[in-house]
Amino acid sequence: ASLQALDRAVPPARRVADRHAAVQRSEPGRFENTPDTDPSVESNRTWAAGILRRVPTSTLGMAAVRAAAVRDGSELEALMTGTIEAGRAWAERGAAERGAILHRAGDALEARRAELIEVMAAEAGKTVDQADPEVSEAVDFAHYYAERGLELEAVDGARFTPAGVTLVTPPWNFPVAIPAGSALAALAAGSAVVFKPAGLTARSGALVAEALWQAGVPTDVLRLVDVDEESLGRQLVSHPAVERVILTGAFETAELFRSFRPDLPLLAETSGKNAVIVTPSADLDLAVKDVVASAFGHAGQKCSAASLVVLVGSVATSPRFRSQLMDAIGSLTVGYPDQASTRMGPLIEAPGPKLRDGLTKLGAGERWLIEPRPLDASDRLWSPGLRDHVARGSAFHRTEYFGPVLGIMTADTLEEAIAIVNEVDYGLTSGLHALDRGEISTWLDTIEAGNLYVNRGITGAIVERQPFGGWKKSSVGAGAKAGGPNYLVNLGSWLPAVSRE
Ligand code: GLU
Repeated sequence: ASLQALDRAVPPARRVADRHAAVQRSEPGRFENTPDTDPSVESNRTWAAGILRRVPTSTLGMAAVRAAAVRDGSELEALMTGTIEAGRAWAERGAAERGAILHRAGDALEARRAELIEVMAAEAGKTVDQADPEVSEAVDFAHYYAERGLELEAVDGARFTPAGVTLVTPPWNFPVAIPAGSALAALAAGSAVVFKPAGLTARSGALVAEALWQAGVPTDVLRLVDVDEESLGRQLVSHPAVERVILTGAFETAELFRSFRPDLPLLAETSGKNAVIVTPSADLDLAVKDVVASAFGHAGQKCSAASLVVLVGSVATSPRFRSQLMDAIGSLTVGYPDQASTRMGPLIEAPGPKLRDGLTKLGAGERWLIEPRPLDASDRLWSPGLRDHVARGSAFHRTEYFGPVLGIMTADTLEEAIAIVNEVDYGLTSGLHALDRGEISTWLDTIEAGNLYVNRGITGAIVERQPFGGWKKSSVGAGAKAGGPNYLVNLGSWLPAVSRE
Protein backbone atom coordinates (compact mmCIF):
# COMPACT_ATOMS: atom_id res chain seq x y z
CA ALA A 1 0.00 0.00 0.00
CA SER A 2 2.81 2.36 0.90
CA LEU A 3 4.54 1.94 -2.40
CA GLN A 4 1.33 2.59 -4.27
CA ALA A 5 1.12 5.81 -2.33
CA LEU A 6 4.64 6.55 -3.50
CA ASP A 7 3.70 6.01 -7.12
CA ARG A 8 0.89 8.51 -6.71
CA ALA A 9 3.38 11.00 -5.32
CA VAL A 10 5.47 11.25 -8.47
CA PRO A 11 6.25 14.78 -9.63
CA PRO A 12 3.51 16.66 -11.43
CA ALA A 13 2.93 16.27 -15.13
CA ARG A 14 2.45 19.94 -15.76
CA ARG A 15 3.12 20.50 -19.39
CA VAL A 16 5.29 23.28 -20.66
CA ALA A 17 3.31 26.08 -22.17
CA ASP A 18 3.83 28.95 -24.49
CA ARG A 19 1.85 31.58 -22.64
CA HIS A 20 0.79 33.07 -25.94
CA ALA A 21 -0.85 29.95 -27.30
CA ALA A 22 -4.27 30.10 -25.66
CA VAL A 23 -5.23 26.66 -24.48
CA GLN A 24 -8.29 25.63 -22.59
CA ARG A 25 -7.58 22.37 -20.85
CA SER A 26 -10.46 21.92 -18.48
CA GLU A 27 -14.06 21.92 -19.53
CA PRO A 28 -17.26 20.40 -18.19
CA GLY A 29 -16.66 16.71 -17.51
CA ARG A 30 -12.88 16.84 -17.71
CA PHE A 31 -10.25 18.13 -15.34
CA GLU A 32 -6.65 18.67 -16.25
CA ASN A 33 -4.04 20.65 -14.32
CA THR A 34 -3.26 23.91 -16.02
CA PRO A 35 0.41 24.33 -16.92
CA ASP A 36 2.77 26.89 -15.43
CA THR A 37 4.54 29.29 -17.71
CA ASP A 38 7.73 27.73 -19.01
CA PRO A 39 10.61 30.21 -18.69
CA SER A 40 12.70 28.29 -21.22
CA VAL A 41 10.38 29.60 -23.96
CA GLU A 42 11.72 32.96 -25.09
CA SER A 43 8.33 34.59 -25.64
CA ASN A 44 7.45 33.69 -22.05
CA ARG A 45 10.54 35.44 -20.76
CA THR A 46 9.58 38.54 -22.73
CA TRP A 47 6.09 38.31 -21.28
CA ALA A 48 7.49 38.03 -17.73
CA ALA A 49 9.85 40.96 -18.29
CA GLY A 50 6.84 43.07 -19.29
CA ILE A 51 5.15 42.21 -16.00
CA LEU A 52 8.28 43.04 -14.01
CA ARG A 53 8.49 46.49 -15.59
CA ARG A 54 5.00 47.30 -14.32
CA VAL A 55 5.55 46.07 -10.76
CA PRO A 56 7.10 49.19 -9.17
CA THR A 57 4.20 51.41 -10.19
CA SER A 58 1.43 48.85 -10.16
CA THR A 59 -2.00 50.14 -9.32
CA LEU A 60 -3.79 46.92 -10.12
CA GLY A 61 -6.20 45.68 -7.53
CA MET A 62 -6.90 49.19 -6.37
CA ALA A 63 -10.47 48.06 -7.05
CA ALA A 64 -10.12 46.82 -3.48
CA VAL A 65 -12.06 50.01 -2.80
CA ARG A 66 -15.02 48.02 -4.10
CA ALA A 67 -14.79 45.92 -0.98
CA ALA A 68 -17.80 46.63 1.19
CA ALA A 69 -16.53 48.50 4.21
CA VAL A 70 -18.26 47.06 7.24
CA ARG A 71 -17.85 49.66 9.95
CA ASP A 72 -20.21 48.66 12.73
CA GLY A 73 -22.60 46.03 13.97
CA SER A 74 -25.59 47.28 12.03
CA GLU A 75 -23.65 47.29 8.75
CA LEU A 76 -22.58 43.75 9.54
CA GLU A 77 -26.22 42.74 10.09
CA ALA A 78 -27.25 44.30 6.78
CA LEU A 79 -24.42 42.53 4.98
CA MET A 80 -25.34 39.18 6.48
CA THR A 81 -29.04 39.53 5.75
CA GLY A 82 -28.35 40.31 2.10
CA THR A 83 -25.84 37.49 1.81
CA ILE A 84 -28.16 34.88 3.31
CA GLU A 85 -30.82 35.77 0.75
CA ALA A 86 -28.41 35.77 -2.18
CA GLY A 87 -27.03 32.45 -0.92
CA ARG A 88 -30.47 30.83 -1.06
CA ALA A 89 -30.85 31.81 -4.69
CA TRP A 90 -27.33 30.54 -5.42
CA ALA A 91 -28.09 27.19 -3.79
CA GLU A 92 -31.27 26.86 -5.85
CA ARG A 93 -29.48 27.39 -9.13
CA GLY A 94 -28.14 23.84 -8.96
CA ALA A 95 -24.68 22.37 -9.33
CA ALA A 96 -24.62 22.29 -13.14
CA GLU A 97 -25.25 26.01 -13.48
CA ARG A 98 -22.81 26.82 -10.70
CA GLY A 99 -20.26 24.48 -12.26
CA ALA A 100 -20.50 26.28 -15.58
CA ILE A 101 -19.86 29.59 -13.83
CA LEU A 102 -16.91 28.09 -11.97
CA HIS A 103 -15.36 26.80 -15.17
CA ARG A 104 -15.71 30.33 -16.52
CA ALA A 105 -14.07 31.59 -13.32
CA GLY A 106 -11.09 29.34 -14.06
CA ASP A 107 -10.83 30.85 -17.52
CA ALA A 108 -11.18 34.38 -16.10
CA LEU A 109 -8.34 33.75 -13.64
CA GLU A 110 -6.21 32.31 -16.44
CA ALA A 111 -6.96 35.37 -18.58
CA ARG A 112 -5.71 37.55 -15.74
CA ARG A 113 -2.53 35.58 -15.11
CA ALA A 114 -0.25 38.52 -15.88
CA GLU A 115 -2.24 40.94 -13.73
CA LEU A 116 -2.37 38.51 -10.83
CA ILE A 117 1.39 37.99 -10.98
CA GLU A 118 1.93 41.75 -11.17
CA VAL A 119 -0.13 42.49 -8.10
CA MET A 120 1.37 39.59 -6.09
CA ALA A 121 4.85 40.87 -6.93
CA ALA A 122 3.91 44.45 -6.07
CA GLU A 123 2.06 43.68 -2.88
CA ALA A 124 3.57 40.46 -1.48
CA GLY A 125 7.06 40.60 -3.01
CA LYS A 126 6.50 37.35 -4.90
CA THR A 127 8.91 36.54 -7.66
CA VAL A 128 7.43 35.47 -11.00
CA ASP A 129 8.57 31.87 -10.54
CA GLN A 130 6.61 31.76 -7.27
CA ALA A 131 3.56 33.73 -8.39
CA ASP A 132 3.01 31.96 -11.71
CA PRO A 133 2.28 28.48 -10.22
CA GLU A 134 0.00 30.15 -7.72
CA VAL A 135 -2.19 31.36 -10.57
CA SER A 136 -2.16 27.84 -12.02
CA GLU A 137 -3.32 26.52 -8.67
CA ALA A 138 -6.19 29.02 -8.50
CA VAL A 139 -7.27 28.07 -12.03
CA ASP A 140 -7.07 24.40 -11.09
CA PHE A 141 -9.26 24.95 -8.03
CA ALA A 142 -11.97 26.53 -10.19
CA HIS A 143 -12.15 23.71 -12.72
CA TYR A 144 -11.65 20.97 -10.14
CA TYR A 145 -14.31 22.15 -7.70
CA ALA A 146 -16.72 22.80 -10.58
CA GLU A 147 -16.62 19.06 -11.22
CA ARG A 148 -16.70 17.99 -7.56
CA GLY A 149 -19.79 20.16 -7.02
CA LEU A 150 -21.71 18.01 -9.50
CA GLU A 151 -20.99 14.92 -7.40
CA LEU A 152 -22.79 16.38 -4.41
CA GLU A 153 -26.11 15.97 -6.15
CA ALA A 154 -25.58 12.38 -7.07
CA VAL A 155 -26.07 10.52 -3.80
CA ASP A 156 -29.06 8.20 -3.28
CA GLY A 157 -31.34 8.75 -0.33
CA ALA A 158 -29.69 11.94 0.86
CA ARG A 159 -29.74 15.53 -0.20
CA PHE A 160 -26.78 17.86 0.23
CA THR A 161 -27.70 21.15 1.83
CA PRO A 162 -24.99 23.76 1.49
CA ALA A 163 -23.98 26.06 4.31
CA GLY A 164 -25.83 29.35 3.95
CA VAL A 165 -22.82 31.58 4.38
CA THR A 166 -19.15 30.58 4.46
CA LEU A 167 -16.60 33.00 5.85
CA VAL A 168 -13.24 32.88 4.05
CA THR A 169 -10.23 34.30 5.89
CA PRO A 170 -7.05 33.57 3.92
CA PRO A 171 -3.43 34.47 4.69
CA TRP A 172 -1.12 36.85 2.83
CA ASN A 173 1.44 34.26 1.76
CA PHE A 174 -0.67 32.75 -1.05
CA PRO A 175 -2.86 35.78 -1.67
CA VAL A 176 -4.40 34.39 -4.87
CA ALA A 177 -4.49 30.58 -4.67
CA ILE A 178 -5.75 30.24 -1.12
CA PRO A 179 -8.63 32.74 -1.23
CA ALA A 180 -9.56 31.55 -4.71
CA GLY A 181 -9.55 27.91 -3.61
CA SER A 182 -11.49 28.56 -0.41
CA ALA A 183 -14.13 30.75 -2.04
CA LEU A 184 -14.51 28.49 -5.07
CA ALA A 185 -14.98 25.43 -2.87
CA ALA A 186 -17.79 27.08 -0.94
CA LEU A 187 -19.37 28.46 -4.12
CA ALA A 188 -19.21 25.06 -5.81
CA ALA A 189 -20.94 23.51 -2.81
CA GLY A 190 -23.73 26.09 -3.16
CA SER A 191 -22.82 28.40 -0.28
CA ALA A 192 -22.54 32.18 -0.35
CA VAL A 193 -19.15 33.57 0.64
CA VAL A 194 -18.01 36.45 2.79
CA PHE A 195 -14.39 36.95 1.80
CA LYS A 196 -12.14 38.99 4.05
CA PRO A 197 -8.70 39.23 2.40
CA ALA A 198 -5.56 39.47 4.52
CA GLY A 199 -4.84 43.14 5.16
CA LEU A 200 -1.37 43.01 3.60
CA THR A 201 -2.66 41.53 0.34
CA ALA A 202 -6.08 43.11 -0.12
CA ARG A 203 -5.38 44.09 -3.74
CA SER A 204 -4.59 40.51 -4.75
CA GLY A 205 -7.81 39.44 -3.05
CA ALA A 206 -9.76 42.10 -4.91
CA LEU A 207 -8.44 40.91 -8.26
CA VAL A 208 -9.49 37.35 -7.46
CA ALA A 209 -12.98 38.54 -6.54
CA GLU A 210 -13.20 40.58 -9.73
CA ALA A 211 -12.31 37.60 -11.87
CA LEU A 212 -15.01 35.53 -10.20
CA TRP A 213 -17.62 38.28 -10.57
CA GLN A 214 -16.66 38.72 -14.20
CA ALA A 215 -17.31 34.99 -14.69
CA GLY A 216 -20.85 35.35 -13.38
CA VAL A 217 -20.65 34.87 -9.62
CA PRO A 218 -23.07 37.51 -8.29
CA THR A 219 -21.48 40.24 -6.18
CA ASP A 220 -23.90 39.53 -3.32
CA VAL A 221 -23.05 35.81 -3.37
CA LEU A 222 -19.32 36.50 -3.20
CA ARG A 223 -18.91 39.46 -0.84
CA LEU A 224 -15.53 41.13 -0.68
CA VAL A 225 -15.40 42.84 2.69
CA ASP A 226 -13.15 45.20 4.52
CA VAL A 227 -13.62 44.66 8.24
CA ASP A 228 -11.54 46.06 11.05
CA GLU A 229 -10.31 42.92 12.80
CA GLU A 230 -9.87 44.57 16.18
CA SER A 231 -13.34 45.99 16.49
CA LEU A 232 -15.49 43.63 14.41
CA GLY A 233 -13.49 40.42 13.93
CA ARG A 234 -15.14 38.62 16.81
CA GLN A 235 -18.63 39.62 15.71
CA LEU A 236 -17.97 38.55 12.15
CA VAL A 237 -16.54 35.14 13.05
CA SER A 238 -19.22 34.37 15.62
CA HIS A 239 -22.16 35.68 13.59
CA PRO A 240 -24.89 33.00 13.61
CA ALA A 241 -25.38 33.27 9.84
CA VAL A 242 -21.80 32.08 9.33
CA GLU A 243 -22.19 28.32 9.02
CA ARG A 244 -18.63 27.51 8.00
CA VAL A 245 -15.28 29.28 8.37
CA ILE A 246 -12.40 28.45 6.06
CA LEU A 247 -9.26 29.72 7.72
CA THR A 248 -5.67 29.38 6.61
CA GLY A 249 -3.25 30.87 9.08
CA ALA A 250 -1.46 30.38 12.36
CA PHE A 251 -2.63 27.74 14.82
CA GLU A 252 -3.09 30.57 17.34
CA THR A 253 -5.57 32.29 15.00
CA ALA A 254 -7.67 29.12 14.84
CA GLU A 255 -7.62 29.03 18.64
CA LEU A 256 -8.66 32.67 18.79
CA PHE A 257 -11.56 31.98 16.40
CA ARG A 258 -12.59 29.04 18.58
CA SER A 259 -12.49 31.27 21.66
CA PHE A 260 -14.97 33.59 19.93
CA ARG A 261 -17.29 30.67 19.34
CA PRO A 262 -16.49 27.25 20.79
CA ASP A 263 -18.73 25.28 18.38
CA LEU A 264 -17.36 27.12 15.36
CA PRO A 265 -17.61 24.92 12.24
CA LEU A 266 -14.04 25.49 11.19
CA LEU A 267 -11.97 24.16 8.31
CA ALA A 268 -8.54 25.42 9.23
CA GLU A 269 -5.16 24.70 7.72
CA THR A 270 -2.68 26.02 10.24
CA SER A 271 1.03 26.19 11.01
CA GLY A 272 3.82 23.81 10.09
CA LYS A 273 7.38 22.97 11.10
CA ASN A 274 8.40 20.82 8.22
CA ALA A 275 11.46 18.67 7.72
CA VAL A 276 13.20 16.85 4.92
CA ILE A 277 15.12 13.69 5.81
CA VAL A 278 18.11 12.80 3.64
CA THR A 279 19.52 9.27 3.88
CA PRO A 280 22.74 7.83 2.41
CA SER A 281 20.75 6.17 -0.39
CA ALA A 282 19.56 9.58 -1.66
CA ASP A 283 20.50 11.32 -4.87
CA LEU A 284 22.26 14.14 -3.02
CA ASP A 285 22.25 16.57 -5.95
CA LEU A 286 18.49 16.28 -6.20
CA ALA A 287 18.15 16.55 -2.43
CA VAL A 288 20.12 19.82 -2.33
CA LYS A 289 18.02 21.32 -5.10
CA ASP A 290 14.71 20.31 -3.50
CA VAL A 291 15.71 21.38 0.02
CA VAL A 292 16.82 24.81 -1.19
CA ALA A 293 13.63 25.34 -3.22
CA SER A 294 11.46 24.19 -0.31
CA ALA A 295 13.26 26.26 2.32
CA PHE A 296 13.76 29.52 0.45
CA GLY A 297 10.92 29.79 -2.10
CA HIS A 298 8.97 32.97 -1.26
CA ALA A 299 11.68 33.57 1.38
CA GLY A 300 10.43 30.61 3.42
CA GLN A 301 7.05 32.22 4.02
CA LYS A 302 4.95 29.12 3.40
CA CYS A 303 3.22 26.83 5.86
CA SER A 304 4.60 24.06 3.70
CA ALA A 305 8.22 25.29 3.70
CA ALA A 306 11.15 23.15 4.81
CA SER A 307 12.71 24.58 7.91
CA LEU A 308 14.67 21.53 9.04
CA VAL A 309 16.80 19.07 7.15
CA VAL A 310 17.66 15.88 9.04
CA LEU A 311 20.79 14.18 7.77
CA VAL A 312 21.16 10.45 8.37
CA GLY A 313 24.34 8.40 8.89
CA SER A 314 27.13 9.17 6.43
CA VAL A 315 25.23 12.16 4.99
CA ALA A 316 25.53 13.68 8.46
CA THR A 317 29.15 12.76 9.13
CA SER A 318 30.72 13.57 5.76
CA PRO A 319 31.13 17.21 4.73
CA ARG A 320 29.77 16.70 1.21
CA PHE A 321 26.06 17.44 1.64
CA ARG A 322 26.65 20.45 3.89
CA SER A 323 29.13 21.95 1.49
CA GLN A 324 26.86 21.44 -1.54
CA LEU A 325 23.98 22.94 0.39
CA MET A 326 26.05 25.98 1.39
CA ASP A 327 27.11 26.53 -2.22
CA ALA A 328 23.52 26.32 -3.41
CA ILE A 329 22.22 28.70 -0.75
CA GLY A 330 25.11 31.07 -1.32
CA SER A 331 24.18 31.26 -5.01
CA LEU A 332 20.67 32.60 -4.35
CA THR A 333 20.52 36.22 -5.48
CA VAL A 334 18.33 38.11 -3.04
CA GLY A 335 16.39 41.09 -4.31
CA TYR A 336 13.04 42.60 -5.14
CA PRO A 337 10.82 40.85 -7.66
CA ASP A 338 11.09 43.57 -10.29
CA GLN A 339 14.75 42.65 -10.83
CA ALA A 340 15.02 39.72 -13.22
CA SER A 341 18.14 38.42 -11.43
CA THR A 342 16.26 37.87 -8.16
CA ARG A 343 16.11 34.26 -7.01
CA MET A 344 14.81 34.94 -3.51
CA GLY A 345 12.49 37.84 -2.82
CA PRO A 346 11.85 39.98 0.27
CA LEU A 347 9.85 39.29 3.40
CA ILE A 348 6.35 40.71 3.22
CA GLU A 349 7.24 43.09 6.05
CA ALA A 350 10.03 43.62 8.56
CA PRO A 351 10.40 40.52 10.73
CA GLY A 352 8.35 40.31 13.91
CA PRO A 353 10.04 39.32 17.19
CA LYS A 354 9.77 35.57 16.59
CA LEU A 355 11.23 35.58 13.09
CA ARG A 356 13.90 38.05 14.18
CA ASP A 357 14.99 35.50 16.80
CA GLY A 358 15.08 32.81 14.13
CA LEU A 359 17.26 35.03 11.94
CA THR A 360 19.63 36.27 14.62
CA LYS A 361 19.77 34.08 17.72
CA LEU A 362 21.53 30.75 18.05
CA GLY A 363 20.46 28.05 20.49
CA ALA A 364 22.90 26.11 22.67
CA GLY A 365 25.52 24.31 20.58
CA GLU A 366 24.25 25.74 17.28
CA ARG A 367 26.41 27.61 14.83
CA TRP A 368 25.82 29.49 11.61
CA LEU A 369 27.06 27.93 8.41
CA ILE A 370 25.56 30.97 6.69
CA GLU A 371 24.41 33.84 8.85
CA PRO A 372 21.36 35.78 7.63
CA ARG A 373 21.81 39.51 7.21
CA PRO A 374 19.53 42.43 6.44
CA LEU A 375 20.56 43.76 3.05
CA ASP A 376 18.94 47.17 3.03
CA ALA A 377 17.27 49.70 5.29
CA SER A 378 13.78 48.33 4.63
CA ASP A 379 14.48 45.37 6.96
CA ARG A 380 12.50 43.24 4.49
CA LEU A 381 15.41 42.01 2.44
CA TRP A 382 17.26 39.29 4.35
CA SER A 383 19.84 36.92 2.98
CA PRO A 384 19.08 33.24 3.61
CA GLY A 385 20.45 31.50 6.70
CA LEU A 386 21.70 28.01 7.48
CA ARG A 387 22.34 26.87 11.05
CA ASP A 388 24.01 23.62 12.04
CA HIS A 389 23.78 21.39 15.13
CA VAL A 390 20.16 22.14 15.95
CA ALA A 391 19.52 20.09 19.09
CA ARG A 392 16.57 17.82 19.69
CA GLY A 393 13.92 19.64 21.70
CA SER A 394 15.48 23.08 21.12
CA ALA A 395 13.48 26.15 20.12
CA PHE A 396 14.60 25.86 16.52
CA HIS A 397 13.53 22.22 16.38
CA ARG A 398 9.97 23.05 17.41
CA THR A 399 9.13 26.62 16.39
CA GLU A 400 7.68 27.84 13.10
CA TYR A 401 9.58 31.00 12.08
CA PHE A 402 8.10 31.60 8.62
CA GLY A 403 11.21 33.04 7.00
CA PRO A 404 14.42 32.21 5.12
CA VAL A 405 16.25 30.16 7.70
CA LEU A 406 16.99 26.44 7.62
CA GLY A 407 18.38 24.25 10.40
CA ILE A 408 20.41 21.06 10.14
CA MET A 409 19.80 18.16 12.52
CA THR A 410 21.47 14.75 12.44
CA ALA A 411 20.52 11.17 13.21
CA ASP A 412 22.34 7.84 13.21
CA THR A 413 19.43 5.97 11.63
CA LEU A 414 16.32 6.66 9.59
CA GLU A 415 14.18 5.58 12.56
CA GLU A 416 15.86 8.18 14.77
CA ALA A 417 15.35 10.84 12.09
CA ILE A 418 11.65 9.98 11.90
CA ALA A 419 11.35 10.21 15.69
CA ILE A 420 12.96 13.67 15.57
CA VAL A 421 10.50 14.86 12.94
CA ASN A 422 7.49 13.35 14.72
CA GLU A 423 8.40 15.08 17.98
CA VAL A 424 7.21 18.38 16.52
CA ASP A 425 3.65 19.45 17.41
CA TYR A 426 2.75 20.17 13.79
CA GLY A 427 2.37 17.81 10.87
CA LEU A 428 1.76 19.60 7.59
CA THR A 429 4.30 18.57 4.97
CA SER A 430 7.25 16.21 5.21
CA GLY A 431 9.94 15.10 2.81
CA LEU A 432 12.22 12.13 2.31
CA HIS A 433 15.15 11.90 -0.02
CA ALA A 434 16.10 8.23 -0.37
CA LEU A 435 16.27 5.78 -3.26
CA ASP A 436 16.05 2.66 -1.09
CA ARG A 437 12.52 1.24 -1.28
CA GLY A 438 12.68 -0.23 2.21
CA GLU A 439 13.53 3.19 3.65
CA ILE A 440 10.74 4.78 1.67
CA SER A 441 8.24 2.23 3.01
CA THR A 442 9.35 2.70 6.60
CA TRP A 443 9.07 6.46 6.29
CA LEU A 444 5.66 6.39 4.62
CA ASP A 445 4.33 4.07 7.33
CA THR A 446 5.53 6.09 10.31
CA ILE A 447 5.95 9.77 9.48
CA GLU A 448 3.28 12.03 10.94
CA ALA A 449 2.29 14.68 8.40
CA GLY A 450 -0.56 15.38 6.01
CA ASN A 451 1.42 15.81 2.81
CA LEU A 452 4.26 13.41 2.17
CA TYR A 453 6.76 13.96 -0.60
CA VAL A 454 9.41 11.47 -1.68
CA ASN A 455 12.33 12.72 -3.78
CA ARG A 456 10.49 15.96 -4.49
CA GLY A 457 10.34 19.39 -2.88
CA ILE A 458 7.78 19.72 -0.11
CA THR A 459 5.99 22.88 -1.28
CA GLY A 460 3.68 23.44 -4.20
CA ALA A 461 0.98 20.81 -3.79
CA ILE A 462 -0.86 20.24 -7.07
CA VAL A 463 -4.67 20.24 -7.07
CA GLU A 464 -6.11 16.71 -7.36
CA ARG A 465 -2.68 15.05 -7.38
CA GLN A 466 -1.62 16.19 -3.92
CA PRO A 467 -4.67 17.26 -1.90
CA PHE A 468 -3.31 19.63 0.73
CA GLY A 469 -3.82 19.58 4.48
CA GLY A 470 -2.15 18.55 7.69
CA TRP A 471 -2.75 16.82 10.97
CA LYS A 472 -1.73 17.39 14.59
CA LYS A 473 -1.52 21.16 15.17
CA SER A 474 -1.45 21.85 11.41
CA SER A 475 -5.16 21.32 11.08
CA VAL A 476 -8.10 22.44 13.19
CA GLY A 477 -11.69 21.37 12.64
CA ALA A 478 -12.79 19.34 9.63
CA GLY A 479 -9.58 17.80 8.38
CA ALA A 480 -10.43 17.31 4.70
CA LYS A 481 -7.77 18.33 2.26
CA ALA A 482 -8.06 21.28 -0.10
CA GLY A 483 -7.89 20.30 -3.75
CA GLY A 484 -9.01 16.76 -2.93
CA PRO A 485 -12.21 14.79 -3.48
CA ASN A 486 -13.63 15.18 0.03
CA TYR A 487 -13.32 18.89 0.58
CA LEU A 488 -16.72 20.13 -0.52
CA VAL A 489 -18.77 17.80 1.67
CA ASN A 490 -17.57 19.80 4.66
CA LEU A 491 -19.29 22.89 3.32
CA GLY A 492 -22.80 21.70 3.97
CA SER A 493 -24.61 18.68 5.36
CA TRP A 494 -26.41 15.62 4.10
CA LEU A 495 -30.08 15.43 4.98
CA PRO A 496 -32.46 12.59 4.17
CA ALA A 497 -33.92 13.21 0.73
CA VAL A 498 -37.48 14.49 0.82
CA SER A 499 -39.68 12.22 -1.27
CA ARG A 500 -40.64 13.98 -4.44
CA GLU A 501 -44.24 13.51 -5.55
N1 GLU B 1 -0.44 24.76 -0.60
C1 GLU B 1 0.83 25.38 -0.43
C2 GLU B 1 1.93 24.45 -0.82
O1 GLU B 1 1.67 23.29 -1.08
C3 GLU B 1 1.07 25.87 0.98
C4 GLU B 1 -0.02 26.70 1.55
C5 GLU B 1 0.38 27.48 2.79
O2 GLU B 1 1.53 27.85 2.99
O3 GLU B 1 -0.55 27.78 3.53
O4 GLU B 1 3.05 24.86 -0.86
